[in-house]
Formats: sequence, structure tokens, C-alpha cells
Amino acid sequence: MNAAGASAARGIGFTSQRTRDRMVERLRAKGIGDEVVLAAMASVPRHLFVEEAIASRAYEDTALPIGFEQTISQPFVVARMIELIRAGRKLGRVLEIGTGCGYQAAVLAAIATEVYSIERITGLHEKARANLRPMRIANLRLAHGDGSKGLPDIGSFDAIILAAAAPTLPEALPAQLAVGGRLIAPVGVKDQALCLIERTNRGFVEQWLDPVHFVPLRGGKA
Ligand code: SAH
Repeated sequence: MNAAGASAARGIGFTSQRTRDRMVERLRAKGIGDEVVLAAMASVPRHLFVEEAIASRAYEDTALPIGFEQTISQPFVVARMIELIRAGRKLGRVLEIGTGCGYQAAVLAAIATEVYSIERITGLHEKARANLRPMRIANLRLAHGDGSKGLPDIGSFDAIILAAAAPTLPEALPAQLAVGGRLIAPVGVKDQALCLIERTNRGFVEQWLDPVHFVPLRGGKA
């Protein structure tokens, strides 16, 4: 990161490290216990992923608009989903579906060895690229396309995380988990819940968890 990038990332007042640390304390108070996830959330400057006009709200625990009728996910939900897929393990290769502005991808890259993130909307794919460029994250690859097919050529992910809700989980995805790998996805239309799938050497184990509210997963490129 260059000097200007570094000072923008450090932030002043409502975008400072102290503000970010307070967000992390609130996440802890709400039940996030994974210190690796909390440290990653403390390190990623969320205010650089939203428009300047709403940067002062970047560390509130809420989803915010990012254009194209999409939102940056609520910090608690980002932390909760990553905590669930990490399950205390070291993460190798991770796939995110729904890059949006790139925030969660940056958090994942602070935790995993290798992160792939797919976005279907061209404008958001480009926005994420621009947001992430000054951060020079070497272990993150962005792809433009329909994430419901996953990335079969890369395959064998330790974790797959969906940032958009499908009425039913796309069939192609669990098959791209490594044995011991975990997938988390919001599933449902009006009533959505987090679905956690673990691939064991005897097959897939499914669990239904918290009610959530996500933008819909859509097919094709846009
Ligand atoms: N990960 C983001 C959240 C983005 S919102 C964050 O850090 O806050 C969810 C995103 O999923 C939207 O940008 C939407 O365009 C995208 N999306 C929806 N369906 C998709 C699909 N089939 N493939 C890839 N991206 C998809």
C-alpha cells in the first residue's frame, strides 16, 4: 500500500482503528468467539468498501447499499459465517460466491491461504477490483461469472461461502468441497436460514442455523 493508501486505510475519527476495534468488541459481545475471525475483522478497513457519503456508518453492525441493488453484508453475519466454516481449523483454499464490493473477500484473505471470489455483476466485479487494488492482497483471485456453478476447475475447497440466498442450494457446490470441508449458505426466499454443510468421508452432513436476510442469488452474468 502506498502512503496515501495507508493513511486512508488508517482512517480518522469514525473510520479509525479505534472505531474498528469497537466494532469487534460489539461482535464479541454478540457471541463471536473465534479470535482469528475477530482479528481479521479488526484489520480490514470496511469504510473503504462503501461510498464516501456513508463511510461514517461503515462500522455500524448493519448491511449498507453498494449500488446495483446489492448490499455489503452486516459485520455480525460475515463474522458468524466465517466462524462457522472455519470451525477452529486453518483454512487452505476458500471460495466466496458474491464478491459484491469485496469486503468479505478481504476478510477471508486475511484468514485463508488462498481465496477465490466470484461476482456475476460486471460493475460490482470492477468495483471490488478497484477497492481491493490498493490493499495488494496477494492470495485473493476475483472472477466474473455465475458462482452457482462454483469453480470446478479449481475445486476441492476447504470452505465455500455464499453471500446471496438461493431458494435451494445449487447442486454443483457441495461436490467442490474437500473431505472435511464446510459450506455455508443462506437458503430460502422470504424465510431464509443459514445452511451449513460438512463433507465427511461418509458423505454430507447438513445443519440449519440462524434466520438471515440476504439478497437473492441469480443465474447468469450481468
Ligand atoms: N460479499 C459481499 C456481499 C455482496 S451481496 C460483502 O462483502 O459484503 C451479494 C452479491 O452476490 C451481490 O453482489 C450479487 O450480485 C452477487 N450474486 C448474486 N448471485 C450471484 C451468482 N450466481 N454468482 C455470483 N455472484 C452472485
